[in-house]
Amino acid sequence: MKAYRMTKWQAPPEFCDIDIPEPGPGEVLVKVGGAGVCHSDLHVMEYPEGALPYPLPFTLGHENAGWVEKVGAGVRDVTAGEPVAVYAVWGCGRCAACLVGADNYCEKAPLFSGGGLGFNGGMASHMIVPSARFLVPLNGLDPREAAPLTDAGLTTYHAVKRSLSVLTPGSTAVVIGVGGLGQMAVQILKALSPARIIAVDVSTEKLAAAKTLGADEVVVSDDRATASIQELTHGRGAELVLDVVGSDATLQLALSVSRRLGHLTLVGIAGGQASFNYLSVPTELSLASTFYGSIPELTEVLTLAQAGKIKTQSELYPLDQAALVYKRLHEGKIQGRAVITPNG
Ligand code: NAD
Ligand code: ZN
Ligand code: ZN
Repeated sequence: MKAYRMTKWQAPPEFCDIDIPEPGPGEVLVKVGGAGVCHSDLHVMEYPEGALPYPLPFTLGHENAGWVEKVGAGVRDVTAGEPVAVYAVWGCGRCAACLVGADNYCEKAPLFSGGGLGFNGGMASHMIVPSARFLVPLNGLDPREAAPLTDAGLTTYHAVKRSLSVLTPGSTAVVIGVGGLGQMAVQILKALSPARIIAVDVSTEKLAAAKTLGADEVVVSDDRATASIQELTHGRGAELVLDVVGSDATLQLALSVSRRLGHLTLVGIAGGQASFNYLSVPTELSLASTFYGSIPELTEVLTLAQAGKIKTQSELYPLDQAALVYKRLHEGKIQGRAVITPNG
């Protein structure tokens, strides 16, 4: 099969011909229906050797859904042809975090690893999933729709859910960066909370999309953004700010529109920094980074999609256009979420 792979650090990925793998004991071979194209892959392509604990080569694509094709020895209760979402963080399965399905906090597995991140992912016709524990039934969702829910959906769901206690009626949530993840965040905020939602982006097209997905207000991310958001919140700032970019500029903006006792949650991995000292931030502001969500949370995200409360804004592309799609993502030209469909 053809696979789009990281073969060298700080070099463009390559198309390679590799064998369709056989599932070993406990493993499942999944025929890929959709593999979402996440901005994190652009960061992975830029990191120098040694920054991430991944051996090369590996196939990209960490947002996957498809159909069970074949199971290895000892795998029970999974049948060929079953449509499944692939949970993306492959933990040890035995530590206290993994035992409750929170492999995103696994105490033993290498940082941020799973299919498409250190292990072979979904930018190929097939991928091996090391345990049926990582497969969640789709219950009627199309794998091409479901694939981005495993990361863009799950990550933002987790980030919103941990702050629901501050999102009371009359509260405000600001989402900075309404691309693949941010557009899911807006819909999830709308589905789960009464907060007024302010979407912020540099792109007016993305802001228009955010508005149709439920944003109450939209603000262009420029040097007037702080003043606009302060005005919209009567000088109080927002109870929740999700920074889904994470650059110096967006972190600064996030701090400047956060509210006393609010939450500022960093989702984006652009590597920016901001100063944090006693007088520079609102009193008792909680700052956190987040990483994915748990397997139970993935079932909750899929349930929201099955109920029609959230919908992936997907653009479908064949596998041979993967390089072009990453280029378009880098240029900010993907309007929602690009999804590679290796099997058509
Ligand atoms: P994307 O490219 O689809 O969207 C990014 C959006 O940010 C775009 O709409 C872009 O116009 C906007 N943007 C860029 N600069 C901006 C600025 N200065 N102000 C406001 N908006 C700006 O990317 P994505 O796939 O949604 O990923 C977003 C970030 O989230 C990436 O850094 C990615 O690595 C990260 N991510 C984190 C996790 C996690 O678990 N923490 C998971 C997945 C992705
Ligand atoms: Zn991702
Ligand atoms: Zn573990």
